[in-house]
Amino acid sequence: MTRGSEPRYRPASDVLKGRVVLVTGAGAGIGRVAALAYARHGADVVLLGRTRSKLESVFDVIVAETATKPVIVPADLATLDEAAADNLAEAIREDYGRLDGILHNASVLGPRVPVAHYPADAWAEVMQVNAMAPVMLTRALLPLLEAAPDASIVFTSSGVGRVGRAYWGAYAVSKFATEGLSQTLADELEHTGVRVNALNPGGTRTAMRAAAYPAEDPATLPEPEAHMDLYLYLMGPDSEGVTGRSIDAPAWRGP
Ligand code: NDP
Repeated sequence: MTRGSEPRYRPASDVLKGRVVLVTGAGAGIGRVAALAYARHGADVVLLGRTRSKLESVFDVIVAETATKPVIVPADLATLDEAAADNLAEAIREDYGRLDGILHNASVLGPRVPVAHYPADAWAEVMQVNAMAPVMLTRALLPLLEAAPDASIVFTSSGVGRVGRAYWGAYAVSKFATEGLSQTLADELEHTGVRVNALNPGGTRTAMRAAAYPAEDPATLPEPEAHMDLYLYLMGPDSEGVTGRSIDAPAWRGP
């Protein structure tokens, strides 16, 4: 992928070979494209999402196109608790024996209304899916990540996770939490082999973006594929030692 004339980063075709990577929200949007990109670069991908048929569609493409071993984990992060996160960790340990990376990608937008009118139950659900579920998954999976030689945790942020904006409500607050979790974890894990970074894809042509900006022409936006060099860089060995960063995909110029 290029911006102007210079390629930002050219991953080796097998840059993730032998790695096991969990992608949440892998059935649609950016998560689907990232899961496919990871598998096409050699990773065994654990596909987590709430709609089984969407995960099966990604699974089928991966099996048809690659020699990797994907697995489907239908799970609703709105109801994920510690026991469910522990069960997932145990299943990954049994299937693969290790975990080399997590892309925390799944999120919900929630209502676009003023804080004064935001329903409390909707606020709680957005915080659960976007902020709490990644905490529980990361905690349960940390022993498997620490057992890997150079594991990578990638959180998905947003522009409204750095500067709040009217009517973005719990979504913005959840993304501030994501940035805080990423920084805190990066600091705690500084002397381990686990690196932790946050990535803001910026405006991207997906269902979530269309819901947030219904009047916008989707054709004016980059597709998720435009960011995959950065998603591969952060997940693969070329970013070893890079931790505690928060990177905007559109502004990224390469390693
Ligand atoms: P989409 O809404 O297109 O896709 C979100 C994915 O997350 C879907 O696969 C969805 O599953 C899954 N998901 C949602 N809720 C749950 C849940 N409760 N349990 C399990 N899976 C769930 O979003 P994008 O691809 O646009 O966004 C991906 C990430 O990028 C998000 O973190 C978003 O905040 C961030 N982002 C996106 C931007 C954009 O312009 N698109 C800009 C800035 C940040 P299902 O399809 O089954 O509903």
